[in-house]
Amino acid sequence: MLKKIDHLGIAVHSLEQAKELYENILGLTCEKVEEIASQKVRTAFYSIGDTHIELLEPTADDSPVAKFLSSKGEGIHHIAYKTDDITSQLANAKEQGCKLIHEEPIIGAGNKLVAFLHPKSTHGVLTEFCSEEKA
Ligand code: ZN
Repeated sequence: MLKKIDHLGIAVHSLEQAKELYENILGLTCEKVEEIASQKVRTAFYSIGDTHIELLEPTADDSPVAKFLSSKGEGIHHIAYKTDDITSQLANAKEQGCKLIHEEPIIGAGNKLVAFLHPKSTHGVLTEFCSEEKA
């Protein structure tokens, strides 16, 4: 079952430059910066209330985020829902005919299990499930 919106992923060209907005103008505190090799991105996490903002900077030209930036520019990249059972959440989506990017969960930010649904099946919004517990 989905529990809450865990975070919004925002694609940026440079974490360093985006910091200016999130830290100095919005006044948020960066919780951590983490490189996620499997997705070829560097992320910066900001907490706001019970949810997070995840800035995504590509670390390679063939990073999915690099492709997103070159076709759409900076902006909201994905929405992530926290689930208490990522495996059954994915199985259910697949059963309902939803196109999946990941058939099995992968290790994402914060060492959590994550999986993405294809935007073609989600009305244009790249949708992430992330696990409640650490992997
Ligand atoms: Zn995410």
